[in-house]
Amino acid sequence: MELLSKQSKQAFEEAIRYIPGGVNSPVRSFKSIGRSPLFFEKASGSVLTDVDGNDYIDMCNSWGVTLLGHAHPEVTEAVIARVQKGTTFGAPTPEETLLAKKVIDMVPAIDMVRFVSSGTEAVMSAVRVARGFTGRTLLVKFDGCYHGHADHLLVDAGSGVAETGEHLTPGVPREFAQCTVSLPFNDPKAVKALFETRGEEIAAVIVEPVPANMGVVPAGSGFLQLLRDLTTQYGALLIFDEVITGFRMSRGGAGQYFGITPDLVTLGKIIGGGFPVGAFGGRRDVMEVLAPLGPVYQAGTLSGNPVAMEAGYHTLRLLDQPGVYEDLARKAESFLGKLRAIVDRYPVTLNSVGPMFTLFFHKKNPTNFEEVKGCDFENFAWFYRSLLKEGVYFSPSQYEANFVNVAHTEHQLRLVLIGVQRALSYVYG
Ligand code: PLP
Repeated sequence: MELLSKQSKQAFEEAIRYIPGGVNSPVRSFKSIGRSPLFFEKASGSVLTDVDGNDYIDMCNSWGVTLLGHAHPEVTEAVIARVQKGTTFGAPTPEETLLAKKVIDMVPAIDMVRFVSSGTEAVMSAVRVARGFTGRTLLVKFDGCYHGHADHLLVDAGSGVAETGEHLTPGVPREFAQCTVSLPFNDPKAVKALFETRGEEIAAVIVEPVPANMGVVPAGSGFLQLLRDLTTQYGALLIFDEVITGFRMSRGGAGQYFGITPDLVTLGKIIGGGFPVGAFGGRRDVMEVLAPLGPVYQAGTLSGNPVAMEAGYHTLRLLDQPGVYEDLARKAESFLGKLRAIVDRYPVTLNSVGPMFTLFFHKKNPTNFEEVKGCDFENFAWFYRSLLKEGVYFSPSQYEANFVNVAHTEHQLRLVLIGVQRALSYVYG
């Protein structure tokens, strides 16, 4: 398919006059893809339609938000009804408790939860709680994991930060960054060595249980359990950043999937049903340090917004119907098996965990950030541009994940396989 992009190009030219880089989040700019971004008009199920009228099968899912697909009729109907009754009160509403109960019912590690308006805020607040609870400062993270754009989390971070090639984003004081240690992912020796020397200073270890922001890089056997054991032994907290994996890897997220219970969990994306919601929760004794119960301050004018709560509640309710996760797992396994057979013929590898996957333009499956940095980014960009012409929309960066979702039909996934095959053959002949 030839891509008509006249309207997208015009929209971008207009946007860059008013918005830095024309976008409100850097990876949307398609900078590493070598073309201007597409502007979108609408979406339904797993099909996106851009402003030129081109349709794409969506594997990016708004960076992992739309596990149910776009514009699910039951979610849309509930949101419209809620909007008509007023959209914000700056005071509690029953919708917040309804969603809180649902989250606590689904995620085993969460006894109490607080809502915020983004994944960044969720992580920022969880780290503050961990520091307040332990009375310690040091935060341990892993190279290539992304936990939002709060100052102390932008050290050796993945996602769009990786594309800047900066160890630390300018604008973050070095003094702040000294409160964070970033270690290579999947390196048990480095973690043990840090705990042996500075274990008593560590407030928390934060990890994406399935890192997705350096592309999908699975944790090696025993790595997450090691983090659980060491944090327990040294009196530090373990935070699972489940902004991407929450309600995706299983009903109870990655913690349940791997059988490991963290002290705190951060959530985002799926939980808002397409609206700006984040959440953090965990052990009751830890969460009780939060104001107004305890001394650790955290707040938000639009936190727990009733429209967003309603969208989130109905999304989780629909995901929690019998068989949804089993069907998703079966569909993903079948699709990814076929995808692997295709990419095996090229110098490309597939990393996947559950319904999350990344095609790496690398001969070897990357196991950490350094290896991902060795990918052939030019060929990725060429592949990506070719794939768009085939009507398939992947996440536009080598450092990101793609997602099989509940709404993908077998037919759509077959078209994705055909598109990938053709795009690879353009690149490699
Ligand atoms: N944590 C993880 C694992 C993420 O993937 C992201 C965003 O992609 C965030 C935190 C930050 O979430 P938000 O973009 O909603 O601020």
